[in-house]
Amino acid sequence: MTNPYRQLPSLDKLLARAELQPLIAQFGREAVRDEARALLDAIRSAIRAGEAPPSGDAIIVQLQDRVREALAPSLIPVINATGVIVHTNLGRALLSEEAKRAMIQVASSYSNLEYDLAAGKRGSRYIHAEALLTRLSGAEAALVVNNNAAAVNLVLRTLAAGREVIISRGELVEIGGGFRIPDILAQSGATLVEVGTTNRTRLADYARAISEHTGLLLKVHQSNYRIIGFTEEVEIHDLVGLARRLDRPLPVVHDLGSGTFLDTRPFGLAYEPRVQDSIAAGADVVTFSGDKLLGGPQAGIILGRKEIIARLKRQPLTRAFRVDKTTLAALQATLLAYLRGTATEEIPVWRMISTPAETLAGRARAWADALAQAGVRAELRPGSSAVGGGSLPGQTLPTTLLALPTDHPHRLLAALRAHTPPVIARVEEDAVVFDPRTVLPEQETALLDAIKHAMCA
Ligand SMILES: *Cc1c(COP(=O)(O)O)cnc(C)c1O
Repeated sequence: MTNPYRQLPSLDKLLARAELQPLIAQFGREAVRDEARALLDAIRSAIRAGEAPPSGDAIIVQLQDRVREALAPSLIPVINATGVIVHTNLGRALLSEEAKRAMIQVASSYSNLEYDLAAGKRGSRYIHAEALLTRLSGAEAALVVNNNAAAVNLVLRTLAAGREVIISRGELVEIGGGFRIPDILAQSGATLVEVGTTNRTRLADYARAISEHTGLLLKVHQSNYRIIGFTEEVEIHDLVGLARRLDRPLPVVHDLGSGTFLDTRPFGLAYEPRVQDSIAAGADVVTFSGDKLLGGPQAGIILGRKEIIARLKRQPLTRAFRVDKTTLAALQATLLAYLRGTATEEIPVWRMISTPAETLAGRARAWADALAQAGVRAELRPGSSAVGGGSLPGQTLPTTLLALPTDHPHRLLAALRAHTPPVIARVEEDAVVFDPRTVLPEQETALLDAIKHAMCA
């Protein structure tokens, strides 16, 4: 009888194995040694419990898995086959080629981020993208911060801390991830005053609630839900009219959520409030996200009156919410596409929204043909894609789905997620379905490989 412990390699012998050198090059000798030591300890315990020692090759594979599981970067690209274009869990908007280029440029070189080139002295990062934003929206001034939640918080804190903020009961929304308007309000030091009912709020409800304690009137876009049936809401234009008629005029703040410069109706969708319409209606401040329908980087965009934006720029908290230089670079490039009038061709969110139904059907058919050649039976089914990102709730775009009928859809979904790159699909009836609308053409080969793998496993 040989001693089973003697069959285990020593730590040094193990680390000298040729198969482990790439792992050591990637993660460093110390980390691999720590994991190897822990693995050998675990194997010794298993032997004590009566198990047979694994082979040398099996130990290598276990160590590779262990190191990757512990140390491989957790944020990785995935294939979005869900058909939800602005998918918050999958990173929202993809950037245009120009935006990516601008990001790399400013990341690889010094820049005038906070330097005034004309004066040769310290400048402000808050001026970048401002001219483009005011040109596109008609607003007097603009400020970009880290995200829209920060934008709303900053605005409420600056304009209404210690005062009352009047908002319709139908607009006390939870955006997702626990982001609730009432909490943001409480957090900013303002007091919430709800008016109207869940389904109906009239101008008179706002008028009755206004007092000497009021700081501002807030309108929040019902981003991710819709109240239907017996409903009434006050338009931003009427709210502005009310606020201006007061002896002491109050600011009207419009949180648009998604915010778009383009009209959604020509794409077969309902009307999503446009940024420039809200400014034209007289809103004193408008806020929206950079990475929803705008199709740019994560950012919170604040537009509004010069004196209000100037106050926001002076607020100490603005520093904590400040935007990164690569974000500003990508945002400028994204905005230029709107200025050129080429947004629907250049910006992935809009390219996906505007992809013709025949193109999607053709791609799904090509996928089914390729899979058939590999012996995988797939069907084509009519389906619907969603815009997502807290915009256009209940609105869908017609598409053609590739469907894989299966008795165990959740097992198939898990196998697809375990692939490199992971594929995120969804279940519809008896099948796992894939929507070509959100799959990039350059990802198609990887997608089909993942499906073949998962179906044959
Ligand atoms: C999405 C959304 C927010 C939050 O925006 P982020 O950029 O995710 O911080 C705030 N308000 C509304 C109405 C939204 O739809």
